[in-house]
Amino acid sequence: MNWRKIFLVVFIIVVLIAGSASIIFYPMYRFMFQETSRDYDKGLTIIQGGGGNSGLLVTDSAVVVIDTKLSGGAAKLYKLAMEKAGAKKVIVINTHYHGDHVNGNQFYKGSDIYIGDYDRKFLLADMGAEKMPNHFVRDSVILHLGNETVCMYNLGQGHTMNDMVVLLKGRGVLFTGDLIFNKVNPFLKKESNANVDKWIGDLDRMLSIPGIATVVPGHGEPGDRNMITAMRDYFIDMKTAAADPSKEKAMKEKYKDWLRLPMMTSPEATIGYIRKP
Ligand SMILES: [Zn+2]
Repeated sequence: MNWRKIFLVVFIIVVLIAGSASIIFYPMYRFMFQETSRDYDKGLTIIQGGGGNSGLLVTDSAVVVIDTKLSGGAAKLYKLAMEKAGAKKVIVINTHYHGDHVNGNQFYKGSDIYIGDYDRKFLLADMGAEKMPNHFVRDSVILHLGNETVCMYNLGQGHTMNDMVVLLKGRGVLFTGDLIFNKVNPFLKKESNANVDKWIGDLDRMLSIPGIATVVPGHGEPGDRNMITAMRDYFIDMKTAAADPSKEKAMKEKYKDWLRLPMMTSPEATIGYIRKP
């Protein structure tokens, strides 16, 4: 074989590897980094992607930012929040401590930043001082901001140890953080103490909140209340498969349309986690 042939073979191999890697990783890239912004109504903008989904609520007295995203998305969200805020104060709410929801906290110096209460040493070590919130919600906090009522409920353990949901009461819009991944296999991590049974309990508590018209999940498209039930059904099905391997194939088939994040989330990963957290 001469050098030209060797070069050609190596070139083809590289192209094939790069091609298949991009096919595998592109959905994940799109899912994590691509942003879409839409005005839900005059006061509320929902910004999907660029990290976790975020909300930007403009009230008479303040602007509320729900989850501050990853690097690029975080900077853009901050800019938009500042434009909308003008002289009004900015309040930040984190649904949980994971980086794709809190990395932008560093921009909001001097703002009130809320998070569900949990071991503060742990939170500080994980988030770093510049992203660390300054308000810790034990059970619930209700903010009355002019004509708006913003309710924060710390549901506790589920996806992490301090999963908080945020209800914009007048609109019936519920931000669930990563307690809901819409048609996406959820992220379960031992280091975050993810707990499927408690997670199901959190979803039950969400179902008991009256007047929810729209659900904004941590990742994936917003939708209606049925999304809460769909996430609950997913976990019940995965628990069934974890307990009875003969049902595993059928459950994987049932959720074949749910996005997998390569090497991170899939029905197999969820079943494996339930069997051995
Ligand atoms: Zn998360």
